[in-house]
Amino acid sequence: MSYSQIWDLDVFFEGGSDSPQLRTHLDETKIKVDQFAGKLQTFETPATQSAAGSVAQLLEEGSTIQLQIGQASGFISCLEAQDMNDTQANTLRSEVTQIVATFRSAFNSLEQKLANTDQTVWDQLIQDKQLSDFRFVLEEWRAKAKEQLSEDEESLISALSVDGYHAWGQMYNTIVGQMTIRVTVEGKEKELSVGQANNLLSHEDSAVRKEVYEKLEEAWKSKEALFARTLNHLAGFRLNVYQKRGWENVLKEPLDYNRMQQETLDAMWGAITKHKTTFVKFLERKAKLMGKEQLDWYDLNASTQDNNQKLSYDEGAEFILKHFQTFSPKMADFAKMAFEDRWIEAEDRSGKRPGGFCTGLPLSNQSRIFMTYSGSMSNVATLAHELGHAYHSYVLRDVHPLNRRYAMNVAETASTFAEMIVADASVKEAQSEENKIALLEDKIQRSVAFFMNIHSRFLFETRFYEERKNGFVTADRLNALTDEAQREAYVDTIATTSPSYWSNKLHFHITGVPFYNFPYTFGYLFSLAIYAKALEEGTDYEDQYIALLQDTARMTTEDLAKKHLGADITKEDFWEKGIALCEKDVEEYLRLTD
Ligand SMILES: [Zn+2]
Repeated sequence: MSYSQIWDLDVFFEGGSDSPQLRTHLDETKIKVDQFAGKLQTFETPATQSAAGSVAQLLEEGSTIQLQIGQASGFISCLEAQDMNDTQANTLRSEVTQIVATFRSAFNSLEQKLANTDQTVWDQLIQDKQLSDFRFVLEEWRAKAKEQLSEDEESLISALSVDGYHAWGQMYNTIVGQMTIRVTVEGKEKELSVGQANNLLSHEDSAVRKEVYEKLEEAWKSKEALFARTLNHLAGFRLNVYQKRGWENVLKEPLDYNRMQQETLDAMWGAITKHKTTFVKFLERKAKLMGKEQLDWYDLNASTQDNNQKLSYDEGAEFILKHFQTFSPKMADFAKMAFEDRWIEAEDRSGKRPGGFCTGLPLSNQSRIFMTYSGSMSNVATLAHELGHAYHSYVLRDVHPLNRRYAMNVAETASTFAEMIVADASVKEAQSEENKIALLEDKIQRSVAFFMNIHSRFLFETRFYEERKNGFVTADRLNALTDEAQREAYVDTIATTSPSYWSNKLHFHITGVPFYNFPYTFGYLFSLAIYAKALEEGTDYEDQYIALLQDTARMTTEDLAKKHLGADITKEDFWEKGIALCEKDVEEYLRLTD
């Protein structure tokens, strides 16, 4: 068996970025969006239950348009990724962005009008059989609209945010894009972008890492006055809006967005904080293996071992299929189909974009996976991860589009689950002890990132926002807050911190989604809890797993866990189950490196 490493895109639209079929599709979508926006202008807030039919029709129409936009957008993402010089694909992207903006504003006005419905009429509407399936999302829109200001005020905020909020995030990107870092690697002086320099922080030579770290700190330091402005102003805008809406807790927006409660978040961090000792031991052992008293910041992502184990693409595919099979034959069948039907672009060639992703083509009920496969075990894990995302979309294919929009914290459930299966199996089947230690180390470093690095980001961000309520927070203070959060999150086991982290981490400057940190840790531990259950129950668990995935976008995360895992995620012991699996890895690592 030999699988193609080049994906099939022609099955959607023939001819790449010059596809006449795609042209027609975009033109038709544009017309439908305009018609939809026109209908919304004359649509009145429902006054009786008899409006249920017309509401259902509008929702249906909106959902269909969304699938059409998704189809075009997914296809264009593939074009952009497979060839970075495809300028026509970039033009198509701007076109889709414009269509999305028009559609979004029409759909928002539908949400608003529904939210303004009188309570008695509302209660009848959501019980109507034409709408009852969307009850959760409808209630969510209504709750959101009620906690906001008036429609006019909110639309003024949106308008002002273009230049007064999002612009600060764009300003950040502009400044970072102009920064270059000069370093000497293997005797050669190089001028690198910030992204390229960051990649060298996992370089095998400690001297290179140290130099890159120092040059990066210096570079960020030289621009800290500018970044203190971008961060303070985008945070100030956010806090002002919250204050006008009467929201006191800065976590309200991210918690609502992730459909979870404060108690759940507290329980998660509480459990992690209690179990840090094991990971401290790991960091201490790693320092010892590197011949150091304590690790420096630039050692955290470096490996102490050489991992030379390589697998051909076909071997990697077989490895994934074999191990998926032991947990879920249905997922294995799905993955086999994805390999055979060329859903995956994995060829190692120039001109491709770095990184990996999975995108849906919802009209076809298919997905496409993008990555560059060069034969490492970590490539195999990435491939499994992306197949997990594709499987999530696949099991949702019969669910109504309105009930498919899951939040960020559960978005990584299926992917992490699939990745864990493969990562665990690769440790078990490692060809040498050295490879085994390397694979374990890699796995544990992921836990350390979720439990310590992301924790430090969360601690910093929460404290910064509290101080920002009282006025501008200076660069000196931001450095101090960062240093303090890192020492605390890593339980004082690191010799150096990265005080500039507040400026070099893009996530603090993303305006689309606030607090772009804790959902990662949530997703990781949530899927580990599912993995723990699957380990106990074997393939008997697969249908329950599918049912859980199908519900990811139609209830709160607390309800999801209660219904499908019989668990209360507002309690620490739920989170401890996932952490225990990670602790086992550390124990084995400590034993192997003793
Ligand atoms: Zn992912």
